[in-house]
This record gives sequence, structure tokens and C-alpha cells, in this order.
Amino acid sequence: MDLTDRDLKVIWHPYTQMKTAKPPIPIVRGEGALLFDENGKKYIDAVSSWWVNIHGHAHPYIAKKVSEQLYKLEHVIFAGFTHEGAVELAERLLQILPKNQQKVFYSDNGSTAVEVAIKMCLQYWHNKGENRTKIIAFKNAYHGDTFGAMAVSGRSAFTAAFDRLLFEVEFIDLPNEDNIQNLTSYISHLKSKTACFIFEPLVQGAGGMLMYDAAYLNELMAHCRKEGMLLIADEVFTGFGRTGKNFACNHVQEQPDIMCFSKGLTGGTMALGLTTCTQTIYDAFLSDDKLKTLFHGHSFTANPVAIAAALASLDLFLDPSTLKNIKRIAAKHMAFGKKITNHPKVKTIRQTGTIFAMEWETGSNTSYFNSLRDILYQYFLDAGIILRPLGNTIYILPPYCITDDELNYIYAKIEQALEAL
Ligand SMILES: *Cc1c(COP(=O)(O)O)cnc(C)c1O
Repeated sequence: MDLTDRDLKVIWHPYTQMKTAKPPIPIVRGEGALLFDENGKKYIDAVSSWWVNIHGHAHPYIAKKVSEQLYKLEHVIFAGFTHEGAVELAERLLQILPKNQQKVFYSDNGSTAVEVAIKMCLQYWHNKGENRTKIIAFKNAYHGDTFGAMAVSGRSAFTAAFDRLLFEVEFIDLPNEDNIQNLTSYISHLKSKTACFIFEPLVQGAGGMLMYDAAYLNELMAHCRKEGMLLIADEVFTGFGRTGKNFACNHVQEQPDIMCFSKGLTGGTMALGLTTCTQTIYDAFLSDDKLKTLFHGHSFTANPVAIAAALASLDLFLDPSTLKNIKRIAAKHMAFGKKITNHPKVKTIRQTGTIFAMEWETGSNTSYFNSLRDILYQYFLDAGIILRPLGNTIYILPPYCITDDELNYIYAKIEQALEAL
């Protein structure tokens, strides 16, 4: 029995309708932006394996650091104990994060980083004896698949089976020149009951690579702060260079109270999440009253091996060649966008840093389940490119080490698809 058959007998894949999906492709090896299947066919990983990979696959420097760590300490309980890597990673990250970020709380993944952020906010007000439980979020937001993270995500096909059970959230539109006044007055009207505003800064990833202006985000942040609300920046996707700066929040002047990270944090090598916060938030949990403790933790909190991967990834990230690559990709994306923007099948082009998105003109049928999505996915797969359109939106989100030739090949295949399909 080959691997695919064995897989289908025992495995249930994520975000996959197992009845109709094509069998999964066994991947045996990765190198740079490439993945190789068992027959030696190569694929350009144009989605960075669900947006996590930033330095390329099986990076030897990260591999070396992870393997060295494995021989020293694989794990230790993180309540009552600590270890060198956890402290070093926190110290180094706080140096490059917005200055008001003072404490790091570790977890396992993006959803847990968001859960921790929400619990920090709600309990912050609880500990202060204020009744603020409402949360403001954006329509089309995506913050993860666990229940709290799902609740602050936009209602969609993904959440439909659970909508009744999700706590109530005030969803607002993305800000723009026309609606910013209405949004700020609506926020003022909610102020006395609202605990926080959670947002994906600049780019809504899973919502379809929707992008909005830093100036209006800044205005919303300033307004929420004025009304006494806490600000949670979910940088699980946008962190570590994706938007052209270290963090998307570096594009705005206001600083969030809480930030969430995962995905690129370990260079895409291992699962790790973290939530950072201000001294003010941290201080609201300090008390002789044990009930004011943040009662949250995961078995693998601050796993030393995952942290070794994160430290190695951070070394690579802070090397000047990485920012050069990010700028190179951004410039190439921009030139390609200009080239195809007037094509009749191109509805819109969006770009922020290394994220390129192109919406395919399909008239009125724009659902996620539109068959065009499946046709495009297969078309690029056959051409040796992993692109996973979100509905009608094709996006390119490569590891920063992707070569010009590889990028040019992806662009050429997109142009070909525009003619062929
Ligand atoms: C992917 C994502 C999450 C969830 O992260 P997981 O590690 O998949 O749980 C949360 N927020 C944003 C913005 C994301 O893109």
C-alpha cells in the first residue's frame, strides 16, 4: 500500500472535505522555497506552508540549533522553573517590539496566543473590579480556530456550526476615508462596556488578504485608547517581516497593549506561540489575592526545542540580508501587480510587503466554495507551485529566500492562467 492509501485509512486532514478532496501529496524533503514529493517532483512553496516558513525549508542553521538543544534539554515544566532560551528569546524580542511591551507569556500556537490575549484583557478589567466584557473586532477577521479565537473572528462558513455558542462580539468594518468618522462615534457609544479591540494590523490574512491603511488603523487605535479600551494586535500572521517591516505595528505610531505571535516565530520549524503585554496589564494581576492570578498554561509552554528554533530564526531574521530579500520580493510583487492590473480578468491587486494578492473577476459568484478556486489550485499544483486561493483571491506569500527565478516562474504561470482559464 502506498503512503497516500495508508494516509486515507487513518488520517483526517485540516480544512479538508475528506469525501471530495484529492488524496494528499506525500512530501519527503524540503530545501529553500522548494518541497519535493516522493517521485522527485518539485513544488515552489508559494504560501510558505500556511504562512509559517520565512527562511526556507530544512534550514541548516535552524536544524543545527534545534538538534543541539535536543541533547541538552528537551522540555521542562514552566511553572516554578525556567530555562536560558526562554529568557533570552523574551529579552531579544522585547528589544525589537514596540517599547511599551514589557512581559512575554508563552504558549503553543497562534490560536492559544490569541486566547491568552483575550483572557489577559477580560481578567485585567475583572481584577480591577470593572464590568467590561464586550470585545470589538473587524468583520472578516480571523484569529484562530479555538473557541475564544473563533468568537472574535468574523462569522463565516468556518464558524457556522458553532455561531450560537460563540460569545457576542461587536464587529466593525475595516476603516477607510469614508467611514472612519462613523466608526469612531460607534466605538465611543460602546465605551463603558468594552474591554478591548482586537485586530490584525494592516492585513486580514484568512479573510482573503484584505488590506487597509495604516493611517486609519492608527486613528482607530488612538480613539479606542482615548475611550479607555485595551488594544490587542494579532501579529500571528503579520509578524517577522511579512508587511515589509519587522512587525505590522511598526507602520503605526500608536502602540498596542497586547501582541500575539506565532507562525513565522520559529521560522516555521516548530509550534510556538507568544503573547506580550505592557507593564500596566501585568501589574493588574499582582496581588496577595490568589484569585487575581492568570490561570492559564499549556503542557508545552515555552518548550526549549521550539524556543531554540525561534532563537535561530531570529538570528537569521535580524541578518541584514533578510530585510534586503523582503524588499526585493516587495519590489518584484509591485512590478508584477502593475503589469497585470489592467487585465480584464483581474478585479483588484493588493500588496503589502511580501504579500501579493490578486482577486479574479468572476462577476457575481464570489463564494469560497466557488469551483474556480479548486480549478486554480489544481492548475498551479500541476505547474509545480503551491498556491491556495482564498475564494477568488490568489495570493503569493513566499519564504524570504525565494529566488528571482522562482518568483518569475510563479508570475509567468499566473499570467498563463489568466489567458487559459
Ligand atoms: C493563523 C492565524 C491564527 C491562528 O494561528 P494557529 O497557529 O493556526 O492556531 C491567529 N491569528 C491570525 C492573524 C492568523 O493568521
